[in-house]
Amino acid sequence: MIKKSMLILCIILSCFIIIKLTIPYFLPKEKEEEIITIVEDKPDSVISIHYPKTHIEELDRKIESDIVKQYMSFSKEYGNSDYLMDRDELNIDYQYYKTKNNYISIALTIYIDSYKLQHPTWSMITYHFDGNKNEKLQLSSFFSMEEMTKLKNKLKNTLLEQYSDCILVENLNQLFNDDFSNYPYFSFDQDNFYFYFPEEKLASDYHEMITIPIPHSELSVNIPLVFPKEEKTISISKQSPIAIDPTKPVVALTFDDGPSRYTEEILETLKKHEVCATFFVLGNKVEDYKEVLKKSIEYQNELGNHSYNHKWLSRLPINSLKEQIEKTQQILQETLSYQPKYLRPTYGSVNDRIRKNTELKIVLWNVDTKDWKIKNIDRIVEKATTDIEDGDIILMHDIFERSAKALEKIIPILKEQGFQFVTISELEEVKKIRGYIDVDN
Ligand code: ZN
Repeated sequence: MIKKSMLILCIILSCFIIIKLTIPYFLPKEKEEEIITIVEDKPDSVISIHYPKTHIEELDRKIESDIVKQYMSFSKEYGNSDYLMDRDELNIDYQYYKTKNNYISIALTIYIDSYKLQHPTWSMITYHFDGNKNEKLQLSSFFSMEEMTKLKNKLKNTLLEQYSDCILVENLNQLFNDDFSNYPYFSFDQDNFYFYFPEEKLASDYHEMITIPIPHSELSVNIPLVFPKEEKTISISKQSPIAIDPTKPVVALTFDDGPSRYTEEILETLKKHEVCATFFVLGNKVEDYKEVLKKSIEYQNELGNHSYNHKWLSRLPINSLKEQIEKTQQILQETLSYQPKYLRPTYGSVNDRIRKNTELKIVLWNVDTKDWKIKNIDRIVEKATTDIEDGDIILMHDIFERSAKALEKIIPILKEQGFQFVTISELEEVKKIRGYIDVDN
């Protein structure tokens, strides 16, 4: 009898252990957040849109419908110029932060430049969301009445101090006299609350959007915002480089506009075939994909600079142009201790102003797989593997699943054709060794 009950107990226990061990595999894995990037290079307009997908259904639906509205109204109003030099531009960038306890802050910045406008215009859409209760938040959800008064004074004084030459005081007073508790233009991350002033009414001449950061230490919030304590710089341990024979043909694979949810798959494919590539990354995505970028560097790939948020560099005024390049250098340095040596200008458009205002070497491409346009994997493969010559630079984008799938086929075909895969730095090295370019250059 005792034996029998012992046996039953044993069976129950082992069942319990088995269930306990296997249960994590049955539970749905929390979906990873991702950043969507859309880039369109049309004859009469350039469009670059970046926004987060939070996987909170209600919020994602709202964001996507707002993005579609912006896209449609831009397409209706702009992008119908007869002059190729006067392409109109739509750029939507994002600030996205989610606290450890599920409070979400998103600010979309909408920038339009056109030959029809005297200067570019800025507007903004924000979303503040309590992911636990599934409800929207307002500025008044974060601050008490008392704190709100403190905040208003702080903002007003900072604006008057920093923009004394152009602030229209009457408009400023008006703004802070109106009900400020529902002021929509703010966001937060783990360091600051940010207040934006996109309305032109506040300043007398053209300004890029005014942003005032206020550190968390200077404000006390009603909501318990929990920030992760993480180190800003990640330590990286590189694998040993793959040997290249400079006497044999080489080809450089390059990927633009990432990182994205597909970058990791691309990295694993490259690693599996023991080849490296160069990724021209956007600065605005570095924070959200720092683990992927870390892996990319560890796998011996090279990172290049592709601007901060894909603005059309060749048209920007010098200070904005420099900011686009330097902000990306800076964030890669701060997060990954990495300094790119190469710049790939957006839309492949280069002029003297870009050349004169950067220390980085400019790299374009000579084989375009057109993976941004072609949806068929085999046609992308064909573009990347037909008539390839020694020293060619192939352009792809790591923001499409089809590009990741095409890569699986591209590498073996090019290997079969006798090519070795190099990064842009390695390509330059090979050229130096072969004596194509001056060693001191
Ligand atoms: Zn691009």
